[in-house]
Amino acid sequence: AQTKSDVEKEVKKIVKFRSPETSEHIPKHISYLLIGGGTASFAAFRAIKSNEPKAKVMVVSDEVVFPYMRPPLSKEIWFDSDLGLDKARFKQWNGAERSIYYEPDEFYMNIEKMDESKNGGVSVIRGYKVTSLNVNDQKVILDDGTEITYDKCLIATGSVPKTLDVFDSASPKVKEKIFTYKSIKDFEMIKNHTDKSKSIAIVGNGFLGSELACALSHYGKEKNLKVYQLFPETGNMAKVLPKYLSEWTTQRIKDVGVDVIPESQITSVEIFNGNQLKLGLSNGNSVIVDFVVQSIGSEPNVDLAKKAALEIDNRLGGYVVNAELEARSNLYAAGDAACFYDPRLGRRRVEHHDHAVVSGRLAGENMVGLKKPYKHQSMFWSDLGSAVGFEAIGLVNSSLPTVAVFAKQNKFDLDEKHLALDEIEKDSNSEEKKKKVEEQKGIENTSESTPKIEANTLECKPNVDSYDKGIIFYMQEERIVGILLWNVFNRISIARKILASDDTFKDLNEVAKLFDIFDQYHED
Ligand code: FAD
Ligand code: NAD
Repeated sequence: AQTKSDVEKEVKKIVKFRSPETSEHIPKHISYLLIGGGTASFAAFRAIKSNEPKAKVMVVSDEVVFPYMRPPLSKEIWFDSDLGLDKARFKQWNGAERSIYYEPDEFYMNIEKMDESKNGGVSVIRGYKVTSLNVNDQKVILDDGTEITYDKCLIATGSVPKTLDVFDSASPKVKEKIFTYKSIKDFEMIKNHTDKSKSIAIVGNGFLGSELACALSHYGKEKNLKVYQLFPETGNMAKVLPKYLSEWTTQRIKDVGVDVIPESQITSVEIFNGNQLKLGLSNGNSVIVDFVVQSIGSEPNVDLAKKAALEIDNRLGGYVVNAELEARSNLYAAGDAACFYDPRLGRRRVEHHDHAVVSGRLAGENMVGLKKPYKHQSMFWSDLGSAVGFEAIGLVNSSLPTVAVFAKQNKFDLDEKHLALDEIEKDSNSEEKKKKVEEQKGIENTSESTPKIEANTLECKPNVDSYDKGIIFYMQEERIVGILLWNVFNRISIARKILASDDTFKDLNEVAKLFDIFDQYHED
């Protein structure tokens, strides 16, 4: 059987080594230095270049590939076995193929040409890590000792997966079979293992665990791959969804073939039968699998904070920045690693793609001097199997009281989902898209509408037969602080307006009508 290091060698054939090979020609000074080559950095360099076309931007990334989007890694990429990352392409839900990389390789400037370039450009130093940041001298040091000074710097170091003590303290042979999932390299590793395995345990019920369980179950269907998902709570997405909806969702995830084992903690792990793992559970049972993927949450990557004497938020983690995303003079933070001040909802830290786009863009704009506060609320989305997809905005946390409104799904909802997922930057809600959906709706509509509205607190669930689609309001006192659109697509701009208004709403029934989830075409 292959070991982790065997697989790593195979992966390296696809994912190459650092570039440039030596740091000899890396400039010693740069106007804009971005630490981290993820989504927030990508959005920042795009904003810098569009506001200052001749800007010179250097991104330092400890990954060996150019910036790419992570969302397809737990979803679409597993739904078309002909594609995959060696081709760097995946098929979106609507069938269209696209690259996982934000820009083609040719977009980036060779770093050796940066110093003499008159028109500037963006270079990505790949496979290099920033190990130290000196805020007063405006200087970073790379892992090979190279020193680079900057005029403006962005920290966009993202987050790192958490791990369980029971696995951290296991034997090396056990550890060979324990993975986390974050990057293109992890995808290659897990795909390779999945192809050679009969069973997998996914630990965790959040976004990653739930999406990956559905995706792997689909991917391994033909070869009867057994996918277990284990977690302590009673249902999937328990930190986000009200309890009744979390438990309903668990049933939908079981429907796509995942063997969900709720209310279980892993208490022990050992090698079984020479080459498998036996996971001992808190409920006294055990599960035998070929390997494990841990998805029990992330923590912000704040490795640079201590030496740089930067403040980390005690409660939320992440670099403390103001509404302009500034940590110190000429130093900004964005994306998963930033703990920012949202003038509408207070201090926050958000680990989602669109937030990385929105905050990275804002940081880039402020780095060129625009002085804009965080105002535009980011959104996020998730897809769990074929029956569940949602989009959300604001504070969406199951510890808050919720009020929910549900309606029956009609056959056009799926088309809306495909249109909504068409663009990875889900921020836009173009007129063209809306028109297309409206046109499709107008052709024929046969579904029945059964609006059922009931206020519920954490203990009380709405009195409806099914949770096909709906709107869930997350409340603080009488104010709406978060909105989750459950199998309802292309309406996030309405949610954004409601959230921005900061009004108190006595009748959420009326607010729900703004989302047009009931079948008015049928009623007409
Ligand atoms: P990251 O994307 O984590 O990028 C940070 C980069 O910085 C990394 O490349 C890291 O290696 C590098 N780095 C760190 N420290 C250093 C250093 N010292 N020197 C050099 N480089 C460094 N969100 C959604 O809203 N919807 C989704 O469907 C969704 N799906 C996801 C699927 C997966 C598999 C994962 C892992 C995440 C998903 N997310 C999703 C979350 C989203 O991708 C993240 O919130 C987003 O990537 C954060 O962007 P970032 O730029 O802050 O950090
Ligand atoms: P998460 O924070 O979404 O969920 C972690 C889950 O693990 C929680 O529900 C928690 O209850 C559970 N958990 C904690 N301890 C556990 C234990 N001992 N055993 C089992 N379960 C335990 O984090 P994630 O799902 O690991 O995702 C990683 C990162 O990727 C996050 O930042 C997430 O936001 C991001 N991501 C986002 C999306 C999306 O927005 N659609 C998709 C994939 C990943």
